[in-house]
Amino acid sequence: MTNNDTIVALATPSGSGAIGVIRLSGPEAITITDKVFKGKSLAKQASHTIHFGTIRDGEAILDEVLVSLFIGPHSYTKEHVVEISTHGSQYIIESIIKLLIRTGARAAKPGEFTLRAFLNGGMDLSQAEAVADLIASNSASSHQVAMQQMRGGFSNELQVLREQLIHFASMIELELDFGEEDVEFANRDQLRDLINKIHRVLYRLISSFEQGNVMKNGVPVVIAGKPNVGKSTLLNALLNEERAIVSEIAGTTRDTIEDEMSIKGVVFRFIDTAGIRETADIIEAKGVERTREKMKQAKLIMYLFDPVVQAQEEINEQLEELKVLGIPFVGIVNKKDLLDLSLIDSLDGFGLNFISAREKEGIEELKGEILRKVNLHKISNDDVIVSNIRHVEALQKTEEALGRVLYGLDNPVTSDFLAMDIKQALYYLGEITGAVTTDDLLDNIFSKFCIGK
Ligand code: GDP
Repeated sequence: MTNNDTIVALATPSGSGAIGVIRLSGPEAITITDKVFKGKSLAKQASHTIHFGTIRDGEAILDEVLVSLFIGPHSYTKEHVVEISTHGSQYIIESIIKLLIRTGARAAKPGEFTLRAFLNGGMDLSQAEAVADLIASNSASSHQVAMQQMRGGFSNELQVLREQLIHFASMIELELDFGEEDVEFANRDQLRDLINKIHRVLYRLISSFEQGNVMKNGVPVVIAGKPNVGKSTLLNALLNEERAIVSEIAGTTRDTIEDEMSIKGVVFRFIDTAGIRETADIIEAKGVERTREKMKQAKLIMYLFDPVVQAQEEINEQLEELKVLGIPFVGIVNKKDLLDLSLIDSLDGFGLNFISAREKEGIEELKGEILRKVNLHKISNDDVIVSNIRHVEALQKTEEALGRVLYGLDNPVTSDFLAMDIKQALYYLGEITGAVTTDDLLDNIFSKFCIGK
């Protein structure tokens, strides 16, 4: 990997738009642009300035453009960066990029701008990953976690603890240098205190993952209930559009529908309706185990009843079954429009929600209940939330390694083993922020970025 190249890519989405922004980064970003830009000499301009002019291929004018200058290290990548805002025609953009490549730039690889920002110390690895999350964020909550992580999140806290641990590792290494002599440079009580402190931080971060994951990816929801109870109709009412096929014939909802709705900034992701069909027979003897497995993927079950065709005892039994599953659920009585008051009264006290999916009655109240059931407490800007599976895995491995160090401190374990386990913990902690990286790790992370980011 060489940082001597100057890279170029379209930074805005491909296709036509009002404008397109072509970005260059690298030592030659300004000189290459100067060769094709007719206007002021860019090399003589100050950083963070914008200049009007034309891009020319020989005598031919490709476009009138605005050029923004960022002189390294005061830029996203810490290198010289030029952003050329063109008219958003695909033809213009392609022609200018080809021209810049002929003039000495090279096409950027996916995520290469952000990779350079990381390699040049502009951000740590978890912040670089947050840039991708931020671009992908599609709700208030996913935006909030990504933004918090990009602004530093838990990196600083981990960095401080890591440095303290490094200190102990070097003290223990020093003991090893003295070999046979019985010296102890690393105070064991202090080390134990530090590890306990790190454990508490790790515990807090690891336990935040469940919420972080839900905020980032949405709450998986299953809608279940007997055939014809109105599951597809309810899904439509919730999504407020006729996407699922509503049918009079039981078992016709076969299409896989993965849909999302957002309530007050929290995304709910419906597990496919083939799943609904399957989970319909949850209480029936056949397939109960299999359907339970399916239900376990959900963080919330919406279970529908139709008292016109289901006796009260059956409803009772199913509610009991649901409680045993241990997953938050909302019991819903549908087709309220068909029920007489005495039937509604008789079901009072079961904590059920009465709706009419077809008439769209009670839907707003139901949404409120759904939100209460998942109990996502609002996080403040200071709360640190882990939402990245790679981070949580590294945190767990750190925790295991530190557990071995604690064991070693309380048992007759030699210093070289202690040192080894501390080093392991340091390795995994470092993986999160990128203090420790391998080419594979970087490839894996940045190849998922889009080109131009
Ligand atoms: P699913 O098999 O559980 O997905 O049930 P559907 O959503 O396909 O609905 C089955 C039938 O019940 C359809 O004819 C719907 O129009 C009807 N239905 C759904 N909700 C209501 C409702 O609130 N009131 C009435 N009267 N009919 C409903």
